[in-house]
Amino acid sequence: MSLDYVKFSNGFERFMPKEYRDMVEHGPFGKKVSVSQMGSFKEILEEHPMCAGCAMTLFIRLAMVSFPNPEDTITVGTAGCGRLAISQAAIPFVYGNYGDQNGVASGLSRGLRLRFGDKPKDVVVMAGDGGTADIGFQQVLHSWFRKERFTTIMLDNEVYGNTGGQESGMTNRGAVLKMAPLGKKFEKMDMLQMAKVAGCAYVATVVPNNPRRVESVIKKAVLIAREVGSTYIQAYTSCNIEYAIPTDKVMEDAKTVENDRYAFSEYVSEEAKQYLTERYGYKEYLPKPAAPAGAIPKA
Ligand code: SF4
Repeated sequence: MSLDYVKFSNGFERFMPKEYRDMVEHGPFGKKVSVSQMGSFKEILEEHPMCAGCAMTLFIRLAMVSFPNPEDTITVGTAGCGRLAISQAAIPFVYGNYGDQNGVASGLSRGLRLRFGDKPKDVVVMAGDGGTADIGFQQVLHSWFRKERFTTIMLDNEVYGNTGGQESGMTNRGAVLKMAPLGKKFEKMDMLQMAKVAGCAYVATVVPNNPRRVESVIKKAVLIAREVGSTYIQAYTSCNIEYAIPTDKVMEDAKTVENDRYAFSEYVSEEAKQYLTERYGYKEYLPKPAAPAGAIPKA
């Protein structure tokens, strides 16, 4: 798991498939690429078996472009739609069986630190709302309370899309689904608040129709998790199949939902702000200069 693992062994270059050669020669490993350059380099995730127009896939692509060091990153997932795409990407993927992804990631992250010391080796969990808030809830919460140093990303499509439309803890109250025909009777779980109470150093919500913002939150979350503690991103990634969203309206839906109930939010602990500023030069967390004496405060 380093740049070396993607390079050709001497003499093998001409025998490798074109896809592989393209990834080595034109992929993002060892370079600084950004979402604004998409289309000019070979992406870590290009082909996948997910439904046409699925917003979750777009989000996963954006997230992978945004990893600070993709050549030093391992993703962990679990059952659900997302892992169908994540497992096709050109970075190592570990399948945590039915909700134990945060337990697996805890051991993996600790083991990598023992093995590689100070070299950054990032672990990023990407799992659905069912895997994160329902089946894997216990392990997710305990990993946060233990301040395990990896990022958890919830791909929140607000339904069990992979198994035909059952309600999840993240489904909104009243939502009627194929396998919840009477409508959900309980509120959507407040995982953001739980993440803060459990001590996450960074908590954010995003939707995929703002790539620069996705890039910004992924970078911050992964960098903070390296040294400060657990980080959590909750991304609205609609299921166009179970919610009957026409594929050409998926981004419109994301915008509507963002305006309605999924507004961008970001919590950064004081320790994380200081770390980002001092280690990575983030200026946005520098203390604001004091107003000159006699200045009239803005209304
Ligand atoms: S079932 Fe829904 S979440 Fe799963 S791949 Fe299809 S559109 Fe995406």
